[in-house]
Amino acid sequence: MYDVLVIGGGPAGLYAAYCLARAGRSVAVFEEHREIGMPVHCTGVLATGSFSRFTLPQDSIRAALRNARFHSPDGRFLSFASDQDEAVVVDRPSFDRGLADQAVEVGADLFLGHRIEALLRFPEGIVAHSSIADDGSRPIAGRLVILATGAAYHLHQSLGLGLPARFVRSAQVEVDFARLAEVEVYFGNEVAPGSFAWVVPFTRGGVPKAKIGLLSSRDAERYLARFLQSPMVAPRTLPNPQCAYRRRPVPIRPIPKTFAERVLVIGDAAGIVKPTTGGGIYYGLLTAELAAATATEAMNAGDFSARFLSRYQAAWQAALASEIRTGVLFRCFASQLSDAEIDEAFHMVASEQVGHLIRDHATFNWHKDVILALWRNANVRGFLWRSLVARGSRLVSPRLHRSDVAPAVRLSEEGSQIG
Ligand SMILES: Cc1cc2nc3c(=O)[nH]c(=O)nc-3n(C[C@H](O)[C@H](O)[C@H](O)COP(=O)(O)OP(=O)(O)OC[C@H]3O[C@@H](n4cnc5c(N)ncnc54)[C@H](O)[C@@H]3O)c2cc1C
Repeated sequence: MYDVLVIGGGPAGLYAAYCLARAGRSVAVFEEHREIGMPVHCTGVLATGSFSRFTLPQDSIRAALRNARFHSPDGRFLSFASDQDEAVVVDRPSFDRGLADQAVEVGADLFLGHRIEALLRFPEGIVAHSSIADDGSRPIAGRLVILATGAAYHLHQSLGLGLPARFVRSAQVEVDFARLAEVEVYFGNEVAPGSFAWVVPFTRGGVPKAKIGLLSSRDAERYLARFLQSPMVAPRTLPNPQCAYRRRPVPIRPIPKTFAERVLVIGDAAGIVKPTTGGGIYYGLLTAELAAATATEAMNAGDFSARFLSRYQAAWQAALASEIRTGVLFRCFASQLSDAEIDEAFHMVASEQVGHLIRDHATFNWHKDVILALWRNANVRGFLWRSLVARGSRLVSPRLHRSDVAPAVRLSEEGSQIG
């Protein structure tokens, strides 16, 4: 019997396996695809500091980013430039393969082409039943499961776990593209309703390329097709017959309970992503590390009860809950803005008074500080109240309760409900 079964071979699952195997635990990782890192859904933008915070494969980096240009619906733009690399673009297949290699190097077993269909508890452990048995695979038992299935929630219900309360839609393509020195981000309800679109440049084999995608409250694929045909993008896109659309729901709120008897849930499977941008790799790695620590404590104590494992939720909430609450609140508000209001927000950000708040407080991974700094600014508050009053919505209070990750705000539907 393994100490830990990890279900899902994405960044979160592979990093949890690495942490546990490095600490001398026996770990099996199950990935439903036959190849790690495929198919690719993700843009792969990661804060530069992630590489010093976690043990990550450096050779997956394809570009460094220090400049970004934000476009308003009325065609204006704001440029942000840094004198240092703020983020990098990783090639997700290489990144994930690097994580898998380092997990295997320290002793984790990797089962590819194994889709786990059921997890059944028994008094001494938990058994994973795999649907692919062409190599004669059999049910495999462990003392504990780490669920890292990404935005796939078919195992949650049978384990007594809930689902993320809200999702946004996403679609992305990779295309050959004119050489570009900065990330471009586009706002507006004609481009990406309730969210934003992006053009992220990188090179592969010396060929300039871009990941072009968007988050949207609806019809992400249709909006992406329009964006690709638009004058913002089309003139710079080079013909690329391999351009394939990837669609995916992005959870923007954590599930209520990220633990159960013999089970811990991490990364997108727990709905733990940055609600502002949908970026989830950093939080996935962080929750992987925290879950590995709790799993180790549980094995040392011989206690796999939900009560004992609840310390994992306390740990990630201490690190992330206030960030996530503030981010959810911001997204609820921002996703309601009309194009005229987004233009007005751009105008405010262009002013020295608000611009310096962003320069002083914005960081790639942590958004609470800049949101609160904006909230304290009289002009921004005036704008906020005017736009809330305009649509008859009521901001109950920016004070949020620790026990409830859902925000104390009631605005009309912003994302699609799944499950
Ligand atoms: C369009 C788009 C762009 C994005 N861009 C960024 C970005 O630039 N930066 C960023 O930080 N985040 C980004 N994200 C989010 C990021 O991709 C996720 O947060 C991240 O991949 C989550 O990692 P994970 O390990 O939790 O899940 P995943 O990466 O989804 O991995 C889960 C794995 O589990 C496997 N699996 C699922 N069910 C089973 C099962 N039953 N049995 C076996 N295996 C199973 C899946 O095949 C998958 O390989 C983006 C997301 C999208 C949709």
